[in-house]
Amino acid sequence: MFEQQGTLVDQQLVVLAWFDVEPRSEPVTAAPPPAQPDDKDWTWVLERECPDCEVQVGHLTMPEIAALNRRCADSFAEVLRRDETWVKARPQPDVWSPLEYGCHVRDVFRLFAERLELMLDQDDPEFANWNPNDTAEAERYDLQDPAQVATELLSAAGHLADCFESLDADQLRRSGRRSDGASFTVETFARYEIHDPLHHLWDVIGAPMSDWTS
Ligand SMILES: [Zn+2]
Repeated sequence: MFEQQGTLVDQQLVVLAWFDVEPRSEPVTAAPPPAQPDDKDWTWVLERECPDCEVQVGHLTMPEIAALNRRCADSFAEVLRRDETWVKARPQPDVWSPLEYGCHVRDVFRLFAERLELMLDQDDPEFANWNPNDTAEAERYDLQDPAQVATELLSAAGHLADCFESLDADQLRRSGRRSDGASFTVETFARYEIHDPLHHLWDVIGAPMSDWTS
């Protein structure tokens, strides 16, 4: 009797297994609407403290910038490991979720490493324009795996921090330009860079750096 039942169960499992290997189509979900575009020129952060995240970058040295990148990435990775529902939820329809911000910050770390390499290899290069909202939609930030994004973000920040720490005095004086005409030395470029992830951490957790570093 048990054997017969077992046989029946086996047959059901075979049938289920057969269904399981059928190709499945992922549910098609539309990309969320673009976040409010941020087309402000943030180069003023080189001159004065940011009133939102309270970060002051104008005096930072390369070792300090490298350390802040690593620390900010650690905090962002912790944020991405919080409750998944919260991590994937947008606080407002046109404001990125913590996950989308995490993807953006990972890509900022990567982009700045590429631009730094360009400044070290070429004389006064012009950076290609980058539209974060286009990337967010094309790469479907909203569908990415928070744990994987955390790992990638830590790796990208670590690489950029290593690059910043390896620079000598001559390299700090090399230059590069944004397509809107803003000009940077490697030193001001690094100071400008570190504000971005720190500000986005403030966007996500709503606390200035003095709170989460104390
Ligand atoms: Zn800020």
